[in-house]
Amino acid sequence: MDDDKQALFRKIPKVDQLMLDPRAEEFAATYPKSLILRAIHDVLDEIRSAIGAGSLANGSRLEKESVLSAVADTLRTMNRPSLRPVINATGVVVHTNLGRSILAERALRQFRPLAGGYSNLEYDLERGERGSRYVHVEEILKELTSAEAAMVVNNNAAAVLIALETLAKGRDVIVSRGQLVEIGGSFRIPDVMKKSGANMVEVGATNKTHLRDYEEVIGPDTALLLKVHTSNYQIIGFTQEVPLPELSGLGKRYGVPVMEDLGSGCLVDFSKAGLQSEPTVQDALSSGADLVTFSGDKLLGGPQAGILLGRKDLIDAIRRNQLNRALRIDKLTLLALEETLRLYRDMDAAVKEIPTLKMIFQSYGTISKKAQRAVKRVGNIKGKNFSLQLADGSSRAGGGALPAMELPSRLLSLAPKGLTAQFMESWLRNYDPPIISRVEKEHLLLDVRTIQERELKIVAEAIRELDGLTA
Ligand SMILES: *Cc1c(COP(=O)(O)O)cnc(C)c1O
Repeated sequence: MDDDKQALFRKIPKVDQLMLDPRAEEFAATYPKSLILRAIHDVLDEIRSAIGAGSLANGSRLEKESVLSAVADTLRTMNRPSLRPVINATGVVVHTNLGRSILAERALRQFRPLAGGYSNLEYDLERGERGSRYVHVEEILKELTSAEAAMVVNNNAAAVLIALETLAKGRDVIVSRGQLVEIGGSFRIPDVMKKSGANMVEVGATNKTHLRDYEEVIGPDTALLLKVHTSNYQIIGFTQEVPLPELSGLGKRYGVPVMEDLGSGCLVDFSKAGLQSEPTVQDALSSGADLVTFSGDKLLGGPQAGILLGRKDLIDAIRRNQLNRALRIDKLTLLALEETLRLYRDMDAAVKEIPTLKMIFQSYGTISKKAQRAVKRVGNIKGKNFSLQLADGSSRAGGGALPAMELPSRLLSLAPKGLTAQFMESWLRNYDPPIISRVEKEHLLLDVRTIQERELKIVAEAIRELDGLTA
């Protein structure tokens, strides 16, 4: 090893020395000692490898002051929770990677008292004896949808699994080849079917399935006719699927229950707001489905959950399944779901107060004004790194819902000058809090539809900082 490197190694401050520094004592007010030691070791290790690799040319990084600054940065990173809030500027409302739905304020207000204290989770207050954790949401689900019975599990994948396992294990389930969907990479109808022990009988072709296709294979071993809402893609052109009322008619004739996996589970009629219509839960039930399943955190706008609605005898059988104990939901989910559902008693309030619905229903005019407020907050900038403009674009509902629907929106568009769009995207993603944007045609785009009002200030500040960076 050459003498220069040896000299640098000798200059590295000692751990004890660093720990005794007044600045390290300041760290102790915020961080546990074990974490401070780990941060110091990490920083020193990094310095040693830099010297070894010859990339630490001068000794300035070895000054105690500079080492402690690096330790402070490392501590901040180490102490940051792994799961943190981010700002969604992608324009995808139900963004699967960003936590799907944001909860309504009314649900959030109840979190603290419920999580910080005991509750009547499984206690019947009137009778003073053990109760069921599910009563808290079942009544309201029945009230809102006119379903005969309701139950709730961990997510919609679990709802489909437990329904198939209970009603069709070892028997046949008939499903159209056009509906063998994969959702989010891990939920595939054929795989869930296999796990449940049901025997999948595929009928029809990818683009067309007729009622007679079902009728030809229906028999004594048929346990269920399954319809799956193809929520994340559309087959266009020469297509046909059997409408639910017809399928239900067939089921009734043969005494076979019909189940629809709705996926999104929408309770409001989107077409009333001039949006592309999405089948509602109420429609599915009134069209004769014996059982419907859907997610709590897609278009419903609540917490992660799987909801099952339908005939009482079927729901009772599913409820008795041992799997139910393994798939049950916790009290915070129940609380968030009950509060979200209560908002649906007044559909106008639901559309205003459930963030997922509010964002989807927001008009272009409202969004355009929001975008202007954002630009105003950014104020005057030098414009050396990029030029900031407003542009038209479109947002999406996301979450595998309404795949073809584009929601006209207004975007902040940063046209690169000194910095590339890729650099800006990554810089914003590493901002605190992270801001998730997208790059399109070499422009960095921030869709204001999914940026919350309180976040506009943070986004504007980030843009100002980006403007001030020296490339
Ligand atoms: C999203 C979806 C599921 C899975 O629901 P999770 O709540 O994510 O478990 C199942 N079926 C369909 C049709 C879906 O769209």
